[in-house]
Amino acid sequence: MTLDSILEEIKKAETIVILTHETPDGDAVGSSLAMKIALRQLGKDADVIIPKYSRTFEFLPDANKIKAESEIKKYDLAISVDCSDLKRLAEGKEYFETAKTKIEIDHHSINTMFGDYNFVNPVAPACCEILIGMFEYFGIEITPELGTCIITGIITDTGGFQYSGVTAETFEFAAELLQKGVNISNVYQKVLSTKTRANFELSRIVSNRMEFLEDGKVTFTYMNLEDEKNVGAEEGDHEGLVELGRNIEGVEVSIFIRQKEGTEGYKVSLRSKEYVNVADVAIMLGGGGHIKAAGCFVQGTVEEVKQKVLSEIRKVLK
Ligand code: 5GP
Ligand code: MN
Repeated sequence: MTLDSILEEIKKAETIVILTHETPDGDAVGSSLAMKIALRQLGKDADVIIPKYSRTFEFLPDANKIKAESEIKKYDLAISVDCSDLKRLAEGKEYFETAKTKIEIDHHSINTMFGDYNFVNPVAPACCEILIGMFEYFGIEITPELGTCIITGIITDTGGFQYSGVTAETFEFAAELLQKGVNISNVYQKVLSTKTRANFELSRIVSNRMEFLEDGKVTFTYMNLEDEKNVGAEEGDHEGLVELGRNIEGVEVSIFIRQKEGTEGYKVSLRSKEYVNVADVAIMLGGGGHIKAAGCFVQGTVEEVKQKVLSEIRKVLK
């Protein structure tokens, strides 16, 4: 079984690196740190390499040990968490490619199975939910520190238990974590309810620019690098802006694009409410993701990107 092989590889390895996707969200950072803490119980001191992440997650146990890069260039084992393909590992790609053994643990519906061992469950609402099951199988004790990282991923990737991917098991895991002393209310407050001032200022800007298209079934809005500069935005301050459109009555698809530094284009975020599969739309544009939350990069001006994305969405909108 893959899980037994994964445990064997972990036990064998002397140097281990944990990697995740670029612009990491709570599930990415939470999964990485949960893996680091779990491996410590197996007697392994693994490096977590995340070049940039939001300060929202600095409260997480072991976050102060996250490295931007490493002097080790060839690890015995690389473990990728919450990442659908090699390209999305961005700066972590090299560490993954050069490692002797490569393990990949993920929950994206579109996954390229880029590891030697791929443990992928596309119906898990968060990568952290896969990890808790895996750790229990490995006999790892779910301590409050480990549980805090896990619940962070579950809370952020389910929008606070609201998305349709949430199952009875999700609540069972949450109940178990609560019993083990994890302060879920505190994590919820820190990662979902609290907004940075810059995030709030950006929400004003993108709300003002919000357009209602296709009989109000689609919203479109955008953000440029200049906007980020004007409000003093930091890493992660765009999080949640795409939800503004989706939360409006009658809207099926929300499109939010933000200018990507050093490129001639925009990072596209897509969200749907009931029936549109935005992962399919994102794939047509070279990206990927989940049925109701997906993304891609599209070259062009705001207007050009908008038209390219809209033309794909029109094909799937009822
Ligand atoms: P977000 O809109 O929050 O950036 O991303 C939503 C979902 O789509 C996430 O699960 C993310 O991993 C995925 N996603 C975003 N951009 C890309 C992309 O360029 N390629 C792929 N494969 N997935 C993406
Ligand atoms: Mn995730």
